[in-house]
Amino acid sequence: MLIDAHAHLDRYGDDLPGALREIDELRILTLTNSMDTPSYRANLEIAGRSPLVLPSFGVHPWNAGDYVGRLDELEAPVRESAIIGEIGLDHRFVEDAERYPAQREVFEFFLAAASAQGKLVNLHTSGAEELVLESLVRHGIERAIVHWYAGPLDTLAKLIDRGTYATIGAAVLSSEHVRSIAQKIPDGLLLTETDNPGGSKWLTGEPGRPRLIEEVVRALGEVRGTRPQSSRERRLDRHEVRETGEQHHADQRSGPRHPR
Ligand SMILES: [Zn+2]
Repeated sequence: MLIDAHAHLDRYGDDLPGALREIDELRILTLTNSMDTPSYRANLEIAGRSPLVLPSFGVHPWNAGDYVGRLDELEAPVRESAIIGEIGLDHRFVEDAERYPAQREVFEFFLAAASAQGKLVNLHTSGAEELVLESLVRHGIERAIVHWYAGPLDTLAKLIDRGTYATIGAAVLSSEHVRSIAQKIPDGLLLTETDNPGGSKWLTGEPGRPRLIEEVVRALGEVRGTRPQSSRERRLDRHEVRETGEQHHADQRSGPRHPR
């Protein structure tokens, strides 16, 4: 089975039915991340259409400013969601430092909740990698996926030391830095992702299709000197993700734990 550990299926719009068909045909276990509460509601609905899709709730650092002062509204969806994401800090694409305190406040809220509830977090770290690491340590977060890591190699080494999972996506096809990162992540902590549909759009101008994950697996095989098949055979990482997913779908069958 293929794993897409970081996507945004709610952003497919009219292309969603086709994307879901591809996910089902290729058997791609897909973590669909949320940017805010409307995005989470959309992802929940999408997850109801395929057992291969796992939704997670988070507020992206780009949207943090909208939620400062109303963090209590986030408590119910956080409790409901088996995985927390996308959350994090962004000091690279967000250049206006006046927005950083809001990012920090929202991120701290989510980390405190994830720590108390023992939940896996899906992290955005652009330009703030060391700050994110420091926050994970301070909150004692043990289960974390760093998505599309492109920061300094020494911070990556510290994240790996803590057992943090890291995703490699389509940037492995074009970025030398990401290729060198892809060589440093141990087998048991390596996950594949697409950041679909926007990740590919950012890289190539075209929205990504779910089957992009096959290209990522192939490229990773080349970069790491392993056959693609052997990347697919790796089990350690995906075992944990699958268990969390089974929990989500079991919870959905037994009904929501609070009214939406
Ligand atoms: Zn994302």
